[in-house]
Amino acid sequence: MKKSSTKRLIIVLAILLALAAAGVAAFTMFFDQAVIVRRNTVYHVERPDKVVAITFDDGPSPVWTPKILNELKQANIKATFFMLGMHVEKYPEIARQVAEEGHEIGNHSYDHHGLIYYTNEELETEVNRAEKVIKDATGVKTIYFRPPKAWVTDSEKNKLKEMGYKVVLWSLNSKDWVTFDNKYMIKYILNNIRPGDIILFHDSGGVFSTEGGDRHETVLTIQRLAEKLREKGYKFVTITELLNVKNDEVKK
Ligand SMILES: [Zn+2]
Repeated sequence: MKKSSTKRLIIVLAILLALAAAGVAAFTMFFDQAVIVRRNTVYHVERPDKVVAITFDDGPSPVWTPKILNELKQANIKATFFMLGMHVEKYPEIARQVAEEGHEIGNHSYDHHGLIYYTNEELETEVNRAEKVIKDATGVKTIYFRPPKAWVTDSEKNKLKEMGYKVVLWSLNSKDWVTFDNKYMIKYILNNIRPGDIILFHDSGGVFSTEGGDRHETVLTIQRLAEKLREKGYKFVTITELLNVKNDEVKK
């Protein structure tokens, strides 16, 4: 009697564990944290013209960033790269190449901690540390900040504003870190694109770390996506270009 109830308990626990694992997987596939923290951030810009900003997070990577830069060059796109200070420190020449090829550079923190755990002082240190490393490597003083995993509180948003930063999230998530099929990503983006969208991709990162992931599908996505979006009349812009809407353009 006792033995069978223990066995039943183990089975119930195993089922609960499996359900929890499936829940976590589904959560990361379908839930986008950025959606719930969008208030007072730049995630989409109302534009009268068909423009879209492509962004890459977590780089630079010595493996994937050069491949992505090559695809962007072939497609004639200027994108925005939200870099991690610690990766820029490791691969300064790749960071420099991104800047030299005319792409915009944003700040993605120094080491990709969840900023939700930071006090305002810690946040300031983290952002400044990344800012300095990026400035030293590329000459660029960053003014856009993208919080790792889109974990950002209202108090952090205020602090970043005080520091002269704009918080930049996204309106369209390619989910390239869990979507291992470029055709699916292209289809998803084409079905959901709106003028003024910011699309999230990654040029580094991994499922459980900030490096070592496979960005092959992201590389394969760029040129085909560019071709399809241009067929729909879209132009590619950086975050600064996206934000610079001229008044007469809006009136048109
Ligand atoms: Zn990230």
